[in-house]
Amino acid sequence: MKKLLLIISLNLLVQTCFGWGFYAHKLINRKAINLLPAELQMFYTSYSDVVSERAVNPDKRRNLIKNEGPRHYIDLDRYAPSKRCCLPRNWKDAVLLYSTDSLYNNGVVPWHTISVYNQLVNAFAKRNKEQILKISADIGHYISDAHVPLHSTENYDGQLTNQKGIHSFWESRLPELFGNNYNFIVGKAVYLENPSEQMWAIVQASFIAVDSVLSFEKELTIAMPDKKYEPNPKNPSKTQVTEEFSKAYHDKLNGQVERRMRASIQEVANFWYSAWVDAGQPKLDMLRSETLTPEQLEAAETEYQDWLLRTYAQEADSCMKPIFKK
Ligand SMILES: [Zn+2]
Repeated sequence: MKKLLLIISLNLLVQTCFGWGFYAHKLINRKAINLLPAELQMFYTSYSDVVSERAVNPDKRRNLIKNEGPRHYIDLDRYAPSKRCCLPRNWKDAVLLYSTDSLYNNGVVPWHTISVYNQLVNAFAKRNKEQILKISADIGHYISDAHVPLHSTENYDGQLTNQKGIHSFWESRLPELFGNNYNFIVGKAVYLENPSEQMWAIVQASFIAVDSVLSFEKELTIAMPDKKYEPNPKNPSKTQVTEEFSKAYHDKLNGQVERRMRASIQEVANFWYSAWVDAGQPKLDMLRSETLTPEQLEAAETEYQDWLLRTYAQEADSCMKPIFKK
């Protein structure tokens, strides 16, 4: 019974700290498979459920592991404008300039993703199937989070501009309401000559989009004061943003959420493909010989929950801190 309660509380804990919503993260990893060249695609397709389901694992760890949270974002506006364009790409150089504590305080997603990328190259080189799957799912998550504009700013939930709640509104509710109409047919995966520079380009593009994310919501809140909230049917003591307001905001963003999701799919495929190429394009035929059954998937999930309990149950009490980050 104690174990059951712990599992329930860990899952509740997890549900308070989404990046992109769980829906979007799983979908991005799954769609990225379609962009891969044939040999790689055959391998990933054999494990598409695993790569998709595990796309949310980094968020499940988020408030349970010290330093996991800052791996999902970088607050570029905490750096002076003259510095934020040119932060050291090399982690050691960055530490020398700013110190580890300061870097983690501001978020480390570009540096951490590259460290995970190097792990993925190693996993491919060793043809370690479990590691390839685990790390592919993880890196898909971090790359996707880096595409979310509010993962690039200190004002990550509109808390500094009286717009609290905008984080999950943009990255969870909008894709859940309108994602069915998005076009997820993206081009083929391309090899990245410089994955590190690509990660920095991704977070810079996210940062440029912050202004419209916040200003459009503020304009509509002023224009539609009585139409923004309604009682939440699942929890009448709480409110939710109305579909009418959501649609007006979504229209005003003019495809921004869809564009960032499409870019996430493209980049996840690019990074998987590049890691495989950098590992020397190892043959993967033997690795994809078995496909996990639903029972095996369930067993893997149970094992994952057990692992969470064994590893982090003692820390869980101190983890009910922030919602998205910090
Ligand atoms: Zn995340």
